[in-house]
Amino acid sequence: MHYLSTRGFAATPHFSEILLGGLAPDGGLYLPAQYPQVSASELDTWRNLSYANLAFEILKKFATDIPENDLRLLTDKTYTEAVYCNTRQSESAKEITPLRKLQSQNGSTLLLQALSNGPTLAFKDMAMQLLGNLFEYALERDGSELNIFGATSGDTGSAAEYAMRGKKGIRVFMLSPHLKMSAFQTAQMFSLQDPNIFNIAVKGVFDDCQDMVKAVSNDLGFKSQYKIGTVNSINWARVVAQVVYYFRGYLSVTKHNSEKVSFTVPSGNFGNICAGHIARMMGLPIDKLIVATNENDVLNEFFSTGIYRVRKSAETYHTSSPSMDISKASNFERFIFDLIGRDAARVKALFAKVESQGGFDLSGKAGSDGDEFKYVNQYGFLAGRSTHQDRLNTIRYAQEHYGIMIDPHTADGIKVARENMQPDVPMIVLETALPAKFNETIREALDKDADRPVGMHNIEDLPQRFDVMDVDVSAIKQYIASHVD
Ligand SMILES: *Cc1c(COP(=O)(O)O)cnc(C)c1O
Repeated sequence: MHYLSTRGFAATPHFSEILLGGLAPDGGLYLPAQYPQVSASELDTWRNLSYANLAFEILKKFATDIPENDLRLLTDKTYTEAVYCNTRQSESAKEITPLRKLQSQNGSTLLLQALSNGPTLAFKDMAMQLLGNLFEYALERDGSELNIFGATSGDTGSAAEYAMRGKKGIRVFMLSPHLKMSAFQTAQMFSLQDPNIFNIAVKGVFDDCQDMVKAVSNDLGFKSQYKIGTVNSINWARVVAQVVYYFRGYLSVTKHNSEKVSFTVPSGNFGNICAGHIARMMGLPIDKLIVATNENDVLNEFFSTGIYRVRKSAETYHTSSPSMDISKASNFERFIFDLIGRDAARVKALFAKVESQGGFDLSGKAGSDGDEFKYVNQYGFLAGRSTHQDRLNTIRYAQEHYGIMIDPHTADGIKVARENMQPDVPMIVLETALPAKFNETIREALDKDADRPVGMHNIEDLPQRFDVMDVDVSAIKQYIASHVD
């Protein structure tokens, strides 16, 4: 299996060669040269596999340069009951992504697939835990090291730290805005005592942290001397790991491959639902893929009009589903590449236009950049948005009618899913976080505290380990240098 860049870079690397990286050298994103196909008989034999075995079967189609025995060890080690144990009482940790039926009426069924039972209670653990094991494996094999450097306002940073803690050859340097994360999220990250994890609280806002990361990444000499890497959502291995739970969801809900299923996905950077698109391109019988956004509705706008218009910082709202507060969707280019017939030169021109003019228009109207919006249906995509008030209403509705407490991101998903139900096509909403992470909004909606998984009741009381720093690029470089032997 070879990979290519959405912007046409000539080299076609293997999986291992793109594992530790992000963007292709031409600024594009990596995709397989062809999507591997899954036959009906393969789907039948997969129906009863454990999550770890299913992950192995899917990954081996993409990671053809990793010996199968090694890959099996990695998937077995990642998808265990012990790692995905933060389930609700009625759910089984053995299933890794347990499904629960919420509603069944007039021939249509609504289900919730939990992706948030990992160590940080958000779906990013699904991929990041595998990435930690893959990175450790590749670095050990190559006798190399990696220093992951990133900025976080919550979910991504903690998922990365819990995936990389204690891993040989890896250090994590994570910037976060000092005193701006919730007490729970701060405790989750700062209570880690592993010597390879460095939490740096920056006296500034999230954008200051991100600017510091950019400044360091632009210093190519420093970057290569100190083996600096990232783990952001464009990383190909993260996307592939996410393909697995679409198969798991489909296979759990159906008995026969003639049946179809739709998915609704709370979306920000288009990483999660991009994996759904890939599963569908592999032949998984997915009917609709429904993008749910919050008030930051860049994606809803595109899937309603064909116009992709990124937002400026001042137009990007801080909402009560903060992990979906994005100004542009960093994985979207992967879908556009397929939508316009894999024409890399045009992708390059369209995304150059995003940089120069803030967007592009595929509506086909006079003066637009193309008419491929008309093909969106063929790919199954639909979209919807919700607001803070919708989230509160949906959290209350779910508590009253389904007897379940949901987090605000999942509420965005359920709201949009309910608007798009079809008779005879089960609808699976992906649960992307547990409510414990977003207690402020739960209190506002339900006037009580969110349930917390066992063992997390007093995490705010645990000793915390972190350093405080000014917004100062040379200081952070010095900090990294002094902690790398
Ligand atoms: C990251 C995240 C999302 C958005 O996922 P994308 O892959 O960026 O679309 C949604 N919900 C939660 C809880 C998240 O952490």
